[in-house]
Amino acid sequence: MELTPKEHIVIVGGGFGGITVAKGLNKPDARITLIDRTNHHLFQPLLYQVATAALSPGDISAPIREIVGKRSNVGVLLGEVTGVDPQRKLIKLRDEKEITFDTLILAPGAQYNYFGNNIWENHAPSLKTISDALNIRERILMSLEEAEQTDNRELRKPLLTFVVVGGGPTGVEMAGAIAEIAKRNMMRDYKTVKEDEIRVFLVEAASQILNGYPASLASKAQQMLEGLGVEVLLDSPVSDIEENIVHLGDDTINTSNIVWAAGVAASPILNHLEAEQDVTGRVKVKQDLSVPGFPDIFVIGDAAYLEDSKGEPLPALAPVAMQQGKFLIKLLSGQNANPENRPAFQYVDKGTMATIGRAKAVADIRGFRFAGFFAWVLWSFVHILFLIGFRNRFRVFIEWIIFYFSFKRGVRLITDRFGKRIPASS
Ligand SMILES: Cc1cc2nc3c(=O)[nH]c(=O)nc-3n(C[C@H](O)[C@H](O)[C@H](O)COP(=O)(O)OP(=O)(O)OC[C@H]3O[C@@H](n4cnc5c(N)ncnc54)[C@H](O)[C@@H]3O)c2cc1C
Repeated sequence: MELTPKEHIVIVGGGFGGITVAKGLNKPDARITLIDRTNHHLFQPLLYQVATAALSPGDISAPIREIVGKRSNVGVLLGEVTGVDPQRKLIKLRDEKEITFDTLILAPGAQYNYFGNNIWENHAPSLKTISDALNIRERILMSLEEAEQTDNRELRKPLLTFVVVGGGPTGVEMAGAIAEIAKRNMMRDYKTVKEDEIRVFLVEAASQILNGYPASLASKAQQMLEGLGVEVLLDSPVSDIEENIVHLGDDTINTSNIVWAAGVAASPILNHLEAEQDVTGRVKVKQDLSVPGFPDIFVIGDAAYLEDSKGEPLPALAPVAMQQGKFLIKLLSGQNANPENRPAFQYVDKGTMATIGRAKAVADIRGFRFAGFFAWVLWSFVHILFLIGFRNRFRVFIEWIIFYFSFKRGVRLITDRFGKRIPASS
């Protein structure tokens, strides 16, 4: 007797979108393969806290095998997808392996975009992975160590100057946290460093930070940053970045600490789909999240471009990716799988938030706007709630309580002293 082969559903990416589908898709008659180039799901919204020594990598990540381990029909594959052949219904991996699929869900997220100046990446690392965060943490801590070892004020200057490029939520959170650790937390430990020697710049090309947020909240966030000692430079597009130098037109800032938190581009594997893409490379999906002409291939999360009912593109945020994942679970589980008769995805915007330093944040929850301590409590609650795994939630909660009362950042470890560091004085 010949058994009918099971439908093979392949999910690329174990981030917010992909993991939601892998955890929730209950289809006993299907075999599901989740492919990711890392072995862990990463809670990117708290990456800046790893980069600024508040949390450890294990607090904000969880092994993908552990998350989906109990599901007998879900297989996990550690591998990097390098190509997709939509006609032959197969994907290609870096090791030349090919995997065929009946249904494909692409959730590979986005990557940072240096606007064609890829060389800047060597001098201005971005924050996307755990190794990025550890690299940035290392640079910040090494700068303080080097500054501690020289009396020459001119040599100390670039070591104690920090520049964050990009005034979106990541840039704002990063600049606030750097100002806090460098100007407050570390003062006790670095005896020769004076608070007024430390300069933290947040550089933004547009005329407000937190572009897309209401102007009143953006200006509150700017005031809070300035209260922490951050110098916010608006209308200041970066014209060049060299080793230890940021150029802003005719002005330059000498610094050994540059963090890139500006533009993003969608994953390059989407270019294989023969589908229309927006300027950042996101695939323009249909209302059911499928790729036009390929009803069995779906793109979700940061990789997908879809407009809301007002014609505005959906933002690249974790809730969008998760809601799209949930939508696909329903769609693929049954009744509405017929391409002719599928429902349209509708994003429910529950609000946006960004935190500034230890106990302040701004929030816009369905038109209710607030800033300060209450917004921070809400921010903390939401972030703990959405972390994967009880252990992570518990650990982060305890770390935050300790940090709130002691001002101490617990993970100030330098582990790769002779590795990636670029010496500022070279
Ligand atoms: C520093 C930072 C802070 C952020 N802060 C917030 C915030 O406060 N609030 C918020 O809502 N959103 C925030 N975001 C955005 C949010 O993280 C993204 O919108 C969300 O992660 C998108 O989910 P996704 O599933 O599309 O992609 P991701 O979560 O990025 O997951 C993509 C996955 O695909 C894998 N992958 C990529 N390419 C390949 C390949 N070729 N082969 C195999 N695997 C691959 C990656 O390893 C990754 O696991 C932040 C993002 C960053 C970087």
